[in-house]
Amino acid sequence: MRNGLDKDLIKRVLGAAPKYTLDELEAKFPPRNLPEGAYVTRFAPSPTGFMHIGNLYGALIDYKLASQSGGVFMLRIEDTDTKREVEGAVEVVKNAMRDFGFVYNNDETYGPYYQSQRKDIYHSVAADLLARGLAYPCFLTAEDMEEIRAKQTAAGFATGIYGEWARDRDLTDAEIIAHLDNGEVPTIRLYSVGDPNKRIFCKDAVRGSISFPENNEDLVLVKSNDGLPTYHFAHLVDDHFMRTTHVVRGEEWLPSLPLHYQLFRMMEWTPPIYIHTATLDKIDAETSKQRKMSKRKDPEANVAFFLQDGWPTGAVVEYLGNILASGYEEAKLKGVVKSFWDYEMKPKKIPMSGALFDMKKLEWWAKEYIGAMPVADLVASVVAWANEYGNDDNKMQVADEKYLAAVLGIERDNPKRVRKDFITWRQTLENVAFFWDKLFKPATDYEYNKDALRAFLTNYNPADDKDTWWSKIVDIANKVGIKNGDVAMNLRVALSGRTNTPDLYSIMSVMGGDMVRERIGRIL
Ligand code: GLU
Repeated sequence: MRNGLDKDLIKRVLGAAPKYTLDELEAKFPPRNLPEGAYVTRFAPSPTGFMHIGNLYGALIDYKLASQSGGVFMLRIEDTDTKREVEGAVEVVKNAMRDFGFVYNNDETYGPYYQSQRKDIYHSVAADLLARGLAYPCFLTAEDMEEIRAKQTAAGFATGIYGEWARDRDLTDAEIIAHLDNGEVPTIRLYSVGDPNKRIFCKDAVRGSISFPENNEDLVLVKSNDGLPTYHFAHLVDDHFMRTTHVVRGEEWLPSLPLHYQLFRMMEWTPPIYIHTATLDKIDAETSKQRKMSKRKDPEANVAFFLQDGWPTGAVVEYLGNILASGYEEAKLKGVVKSFWDYEMKPKKIPMSGALFDMKKLEWWAKEYIGAMPVADLVASVVAWANEYGNDDNKMQVADEKYLAAVLGIERDNPKRVRKDFITWRQTLENVAFFWDKLFKPATDYEYNKDALRAFLTNYNPADDKDTWWSKIVDIANKVGIKNGDVAMNLRVALSGRTNTPDLYSIMSVMGGDMVRERIGRIL
């Protein structure tokens, strides 16, 4: 510990007197009134304009743990890096929350939820640390730090501002005043008393207790350029005063854990329970090796990809849910639960290393998911997607919703035998494109049995029920001397341009007499 600064000097160092005392902050953000065992979690993205699938995975854990325990899930915007700010980046996050159905509850009492609007709170805590000699103003410039770094590297020391390298650690009041009089604006650094030869034990809910060397770096708590906190300091202050019980974050933060424990100890605050999530991996198509999903190489690393390509967001959630709760798939197949939201996930079972995200598996979840949807929901989803993301053909297909509903309703009336060939909204529309004349692609190389087609047209009555319709096909088969199935195949190809379709009778019913006659007539 060093000598603390007095009120006046703190005011000069921070640019203004602190707005609150710690007691006032404690009163302003009271402990939450929640039932025992309720999780308070937060999704805390930095608004960069790009949302990684790994962020969505983390947010799902946050939301699920809060909702299944009757707790609170918050959305906190970590916009302290003013240099990296991007227009519309917060919208990207909020839209994803909406589209994936993660409902956050940003109760006014604990706000604001934009870190850039919480300066008063951070400065009040910084003032307390300055007064207690646990932090100090540091006037090192970028050039000074570069020089220190060069010296450390040359001499084989660990880089960073620590121990005797921390030039301003023990400045006297007079020296601080001299710097301030000179117009210099300080950063506020932690006055670390950690000893790397000692170890600190930290807890992670999945990994258990982990020991690290103590931190001895005088890390920056408040930046000089904009007076905003670093991640470390904001995490301390926000997760304490927002009364977060569980911090779910990427494993890249694991090395900072001893520092975070150190900060919580200095404040005599109880640290939250940490859950560090593994990165989402994929199997590289070229090397067949498991590797991190890459923002640069993998379109599916971007949450926006799933929205633009029309993946059912519910299915993405189901699949992510299965990755983070390995027992879920079985419970679902056994019919114990209907969706991931009904399944009680256990934080301890969250994967600790490289969780595999496989688009083929997602396809399976998507097929199952769409298969279980009522037609009306399916239609609504396809329409909404086409209008927002679809091309002109897609938009044309969804213009007549009644027709679309009839097309998509084929083979969905028997819940035990629902077709499972729809994967995404885009692919669904492509799959049924032959129902629209403009998109229909006749089969050019199919050798039709024209006698069969001609015979069909002669007796065709669109009002026939399925049995009558079939008996006519059997008659044609006998007359022409081919199999029943061959007659049907001729009709199928004539109408759809494909050899593989859902139920032919339903197709004809939906197309209607005119379209059926026209397509067969064209071949004859
Ligand atoms: N803004 C941090 C990130 O995006 C948040 C980490 C955390 O959840 O604490 O990595």
